Amino acid sequence: MKTALVTGGAGFIGSHLCEKLLEKGHSAICLDNFFTGRKKNIDHLIGHPHFEWIRHDIVEPILLEADWIFNFACPASPVHYQYNPIKTAKTSVMGALNMLGLAKRIRARILQASTSEVYGDPEIHPQSENYWGNVNPIGTRSCYDEGKRIAETLFMDYHRSHKLDIKLIRIFNTYGPRMLENDGRVVSNFIVQALRNEPITIYGDGTQTRSFCYVDDLVDGILKMMESQNFTGPVNLGNPEEYNMLELAKMIVEMTSSRSKIVYKPLPSDDPKKRRPDITLAKEKLGWEPEVPVKEGLQKTILYFEKEIKENA
Ligand code: NAD
Ligand code: UDP
Repeated sequence: MKTALVTGGAGFIGSHLCEKLLEKGHSAICLDNFFTGRKKNIDHLIGHPHFEWIRHDIVEPILLEADWIFNFACPASPVHYQYNPIKTAKTSVMGALNMLGLAKRIRARILQASTSEVYGDPEIHPQSENYWGNVNPIGTRSCYDEGKRIAETLFMDYHRSHKLDIKLIRIFNTYGPRMLENDGRVVSNFIVQALRNEPITIYGDGTQTRSFCYVDDLVDGILKMMESQNFTGPVNLGNPEEYNMLELAKMIVEMTSSRSKIVYKPLPSDDPKKRRPDITLAKEKLGWEPEVPVKEGLQKTILYFEKEIKENA
């Protein structure tokens, strides 16, 4: 059994990961500055004999003992990572350096939560790991995209220079329970708007596409990657089921029997036009592929938001 440090452990994905680690008999240390994370996400884990949590910002160094480090600390919603872009870049870069330094010192295996954003507005479709991407270095998304790209560089250089045991995963749009009501990402926005019978906000003309992975599937892939041997990645983790935003909006309106109407808002700058993971490598190296169809995952997420909205009313 391992001791796992999960940075960003009180966030959406991080809290599911902590839960799964405990379920499998490992120990989990959740480290978070609670910028977009919540105590509520980990409340049910507090008191578990193998769970600890620490309020800490990964921009500052920390010394802990662990076998595995999952580096998930970083706001992921464009609204949140653009709120303080300089802090986002610091979290991505200085946070990665601090966690790599820690891993080197304690000889831990370290996994980086990278992102499909490293492909930018992709010119090839679907995206496979050998594509180098099309990223604007000076745009409003750059703090996150370039931050995550330099983090990948640092991980590879620690691996080459210090033989550090690293793992790189590129996560594609993931959704599910514990997303914030005001998260700003498309799935949570559309569901919350539909449940409140408020207008569904489509940015641009709604023809841009994304591919949506349910969080349980993702966590399964993350653990398979951490447990794998002789494979650093990068590896894409995502669900290749691809929808445009208009299709997604209509599906959610129908599933919630909502009276919401669609309204169109300006498309944010550098918003990628299409995105779908090629998961051939994950299938081959990890024996992983998502199992939860989008409709089923959306149903579970809708139930979660119904409860959230009632509780917060
Ligand atoms: P989230 O915003 O819910 O979680 C991020 C967590 O990190 C939060 O708990 C936040 O408080 C914490 N955090 C932020 N800055 C920190 C800092 N400086 N020090 C300590 N803690 C800090 O987002 P999420 O969707 O759970 O994403 C988690 C990770 O996965 C991120 O690194 C993100 O880039 C990556 N990712 C997510 C997706 C997705 O679709 N959800 C896609 C690609 C990559
Ligand atoms: N989007 C939208 N309405 C919203 C929120 C997002 O149409 O209320 C669009 C957004 O412009 C993007 C897609 O949905 O094209 C996915 O956005 P999200 O912020 O979820 O993730 P990302 O752009 O980082 O993939």
